[in-house]
Amino acid sequence: METRIELIQGDITKLKVDAIVNAANPSLLGGGGVDGAIHKAAGPGLVEVCRLLGGCKTGEAKITKGYKLPAQFIIHTVGPVWGVGDRHEEELLASCYRKSLAHATVHDCKTIAFPNISTGVYHFPKELAASIAIREVKNYLSANAIPEKVSFVCFDDENFMIYQQLLDQ
Ligand code: ADP
Repeated sequence: METRIELIQGDITKLKVDAIVNAANPSLLGGGGVDGAIHKAAGPGLVEVCRLLGGCKTGEAKITKGYKLPAQFIIHTVGPVWGVGDRHEEELLASCYRKSLAHATVHDCKTIAFPNISTGVYHFPKELAASIAIREVKNYLSANAIPEKVSFVCFDDENFMIYQQLLDQ
């Protein structure tokens, strides 16, 4: 496995990294899944500042502080919903990873952790999502020194096994 990439199974809100990525929805005002867990752990300061951000488009990313989280920053990105709209889901998911990584570089985040964006209620096929995530992170790391380390945080067993297989190749 590439030494700057790490695979973790667990709850992203617990990680002491410079930035965690949130699989947010376009309102940025919180929701279910990982988004709900992050808002709950970060505390009410997060939604207060998110109200001022004016939402976020699919494939884009915005950054806030981490509030009560061990992570210093939260990078909120909006993944595509699988199977609706103009069907550019693969490109939009790739964009989520690239734009999140770009925020990490600008804010000098040496460590960043990603959840499996869009693979929950947004129903993106898990294997395809993992291969896009890994490809984009590898490409970005080969061109940028910061972040130094990227963690993929899998909550469910299925994603963990998919990432294990793909990263071992
Ligand atoms: P999306 O709307 O982008 O599909 P979800 O939050 O529904 O977002 O799911 C994205 C992924 O986040 C899923 O694979 C889900 O298992 C995972 N997830 C849920 N809670 C957590 C958590 N606390 N830490 C890390 N990953 C989580």
